[in-house]
Amino acid sequence: MTETKTDAMTRADWQRLAGELTIETRAFIDDAFVDAESGETFASINPATGDTLAEVASCDVADADKAVARARRAFDEGAWSRRPPGARKAVLLRLAELMEAHKAELALLDTLDMGKPIGSSLGDMSGAIGCLRHHAESIDKLYGEVAPTGDDALGLVLREPLGVVASIVPWNFPLMMTAWKIAPALAAGNSVILKPSEKSPLSALRLAALAREAGLPGGVFQVLPGFGHTVGKALALSMGVDCLAFTGSTAVGKQLMQYAGQSNLKRVYLECGGKSPNLVFADCKDLDAVARHAAEAIFHNQGEVCIAASRLLVENRIRETFVDKLLAAAEHMQPGDPLDPASFMGAMVDRTQYQRVLDYIRRGVEEGATLRSGGSATEGPGLFIPPTIFDGVSPSMAIGREEIFGPVLSVFGFDTEEEAIALANDSDYGLAAGVWSQDIDRIMRVSRRLQSGQVYVNNWAGMDQTVPFGGVKQSGNGRDKSHHSLEEYSDLKTVWISLTP
Ligand code: NAD
Repeated sequence: MTETKTDAMTRADWQRLAGELTIETRAFIDDAFVDAESGETFASINPATGDTLAEVASCDVADADKAVARARRAFDEGAWSRRPPGARKAVLLRLAELMEAHKAELALLDTLDMGKPIGSSLGDMSGAIGCLRHHAESIDKLYGEVAPTGDDALGLVLREPLGVVASIVPWNFPLMMTAWKIAPALAAGNSVILKPSEKSPLSALRLAALAREAGLPGGVFQVLPGFGHTVGKALALSMGVDCLAFTGSTAVGKQLMQYAGQSNLKRVYLECGGKSPNLVFADCKDLDAVARHAAEAIFHNQGEVCIAASRLLVENRIRETFVDKLLAAAEHMQPGDPLDPASFMGAMVDRTQYQRVLDYIRRGVEEGATLRSGGSATEGPGLFIPPTIFDGVSPSMAIGREEIFGPVLSVFGFDTEEEAIALANDSDYGLAAGVWSQDIDRIMRVSRRLQSGQVYVNNWAGMDQTVPFGGVKQSGNGRDKSHHSLEEYSDLKTVWISLTP
């Protein structure tokens, strides 16, 4: 399928395109598409319709071993790892061009596979392509150092790729999370093995074909679809993997650190979950606009967002008015057909996640929070949950502490700035936080004290490639994007040269 203009496409256009798709279902090992060694497959299901899209190769230990051996050989042979940075850049820019040319197809695969609205998937593609271009352009501008030693020596500090990087990614932004991991790792000269989520493997397999077409040598970029407890675990325990770059839940992040300890002490970069607080102070100028942004900040992507602003902290003297405005804003964010460009929310990724979200809603009611909107699922084969808002939530309630990963907002009240900061920081997580206020002194005071990798002031989720993204506390230890992520995928080597007088 070749370049398609996406701006003017209607629901009917997307449906037609969906009917024409050829879906790759096999693993990509070395430079070929192959079945899993065991012949096993798993079903990829469209959560908006319940239809089976494809039966995908279910990789396991044998496939992981094969891919790791091939990745290592490619690394040692140097066709990519020792290729001059400028030449690596050219290949990655070619891959970005190919992704641009196949943007509609890649976006559609993500939407069909995990239920997100097509408009949101197209936004992800722009993010993924931009990420690839950014790291490709950076790699020939990253210098080593000459240390300030005495005259009798020359201390060189060189940057070298790590070796074999296994990237394990989630399903909520399938191709964008993939790009955040693989772009800097490939640019730095590593061999990369990608394990997409079993809930959204299709775009990653299409990407493998584009990477081959762009000219990445065999073994440098491989894709192993399959489950976490099979092929994911095998990669994490492998003695041949030098680095695990993970995005996913905190629980699995903790397991990966154990696997690294049980095997070869591979480095482990984690981007994990969140329960992000969004603080609204009474001095805000335009409460209608803030309420709209606060609703988008939780309901975007059906709430299946690591930085979903799932805890809304509102100053008590405006709380009642503000919650009314929030309800009005959420009314316009109902779920709809993911192939309709007008849909703000799509379907939940699968029945497990759908049921998990509904269970949290039930617990919220049982624990005494006030359900102000949503709460019940729609009937039919599609897994849709409307925007759900609870007021009067307290930190002891499950919906106030645990990551739900769905369209459920918990509203808390506060009276003072100190109380707001304490409530915000009362969490195991530290991924994102928001501050809405017109008082610059307050903004600076509060921003500094929030325990969070990202603080958004009078916006939510403002970002581009130039700034790092990641969490503190149990939200993780790595940083995606910006030159900081590029540095994570290389090692420093010191070469000490004695200079004879
Ligand atoms: P998950 O942790 O269940 O799975 C993530 C990936 O890990 C999948 O590919 C899965 O197959 C794999 N996996 C699972 N068990 C494994 C094991 N034992 N060994 C190796 N691999 C294993 O998470 P998910 O449900 O796919 O995604 C949702 C989570 O991701 C949420 O917690 C969300 O906050 C988080 N997330 C974080 C960020 C971020 O940048 N911080 C971004 C997106 C999503």
